[in-house]
Amino acid sequence: MNPTIAVIRGDGIGPEIMEATLHVLDAMALGLQYEFVDAGLAAYEKDGELLPARTLETIERLGVALKSPLTTPVGEGFSSINVALRRRFDLYANVRPAITFPNTRARYEGIDIITVRENTEGAYIGEGQALSEDGETATLTQKITRKGSDRIVRYAFELARSAGRRKVTVVHKANILKTTSGLFLRVAREIAAQYPDIDFNEMIVDNTCMQLVMRPEQFDVIVTTNLFGDIISDLCAGLVGGLGLAPGANIGKDAAIFEAVHGTAPDIAGRGIANPVALMLGAGQMLGHLGMEQEARRLRRAIVATMEARDSLTSDLGGGGSTMDFARAIARRTAQ
Ligand code: ATP
Ligand code: MG
Repeated sequence: MNPTIAVIRGDGIGPEIMEATLHVLDAMALGLQYEFVDAGLAAYEKDGELLPARTLETIERLGVALKSPLTTPVGEGFSSINVALRRRFDLYANVRPAITFPNTRARYEGIDIITVRENTEGAYIGEGQALSEDGETATLTQKITRKGSDRIVRYAFELARSAGRRKVTVVHKANILKTTSGLFLRVAREIAAQYPDIDFNEMIVDNTCMQLVMRPEQFDVIVTTNLFGDIISDLCAGLVGGLGLAPGANIGKDAAIFEAVHGTAPDIAGRGIANPVALMLGAGQMLGHLGMEQEARRLRRAIVATMEARDSLTSDLGGGGSTMDFARAIARRTAQ
C-alpha cells in the first residue's frame, strides 16, 4: 500500500497549484508518498536539461505522476515536453472529464462528459511534413493503426463499464477520410459488439460539434482520434466553464501522468491567485487510477461543496480568495 507518486511542480503557476493540491491530498491523510522531480524550465535552469534522465527514470519506476504545467523554451530541441512524455511512455489514452460545477459562468448545467482521445497516432505523428520549395504546397501524413484504434476504443468501453456509464459515442469522419477514419470506425464497431451492456453510437465530427453545443446532455463517453479529440475536449471544457476546471489524464500500459489541461499562465504566475481546481481534479483522476475511487469521490465532493458555498473562490470564479485560501477551504471539507 501507500503508493508513491512522482510529482512535477512545473513552471509558471505550476508550483502554486501543486502546493495547493498537495495540501488537500495531505489533509485527506491517504498515506501517499511523493518523489519530487523536475521537468521544463525549472529543470533546465537547474541542470540544463528539459527532461532529465532522473525524472524519466522516476516516472518509469513509480508508474504514476502528478504534473503541473511546463514551459517548453523555444528552440531547445523539443517542440513540446508534454508530447515528449507521451511518446516516451506511450501514453495512448488522453482522458478528459468535463463536469458542470456550481456557481460558474458555464452555459449549461448537468453536463458530465468524458472525452477519450487517442494520443499517439492520427494527424499528430509528425511524419511526412513537407513544404514545397516555392512554399505553396504543404503535406502531412496521418496514420491510424488497427492496434492503436483497438486499444483506445477498448479503453473507452472499459472506462464506461467501470465508471457505470451507459453510452460510448465514437466520433469520426469516415465519409470523407475513408482510409484513416474509416479504419478507426470499423475497429470501433467490432469492439462495441463485445460490450453489449454499453450503448454504442457513431457520430460524424462536424455534427458532434453542433450537437455538443446544442444538446450536450446526450453525451456520456466520447472516443475519437487525436486531432478530433484535441478539439472536442476543449469544446467540452468550454461548455462547463473553461480551463480552470479541466483536468486530464495521459494513460499508457505502464505509466500514467495526471495534470491540469491549462498552461503555465505566466500572466498571473507568482501572485498566488491561480485556480488550483483543474490540478486537484487531475489528482482525483489519479486516485481513481490507483484504485482509491472512494477517496476520489470524497475529493470531488469537497470541491463541489466549496464551490457551492462560494467559499474562498479564486478570482477567475468570481471570488476574492487566494490559491491557498481556496485549497484550505476544500481541505476542510474533505473531512466531511
Ligand atoms: P502556456 O504557454 O503554458 O500554454 P498560456 O499563456 O497559453 O500558457 P494558459 O495557461 O493556457 O496560458 O491560460 C490562458 C489564460 O487562462 C491565461 O490568461 C491564464 O491566466 C488563464 N488561466 C489558465 N489557467 C488558469 C488557472 N488555473 N487559474 C486562473 N487562470 C488561469
Ligand atoms: Mg496555452
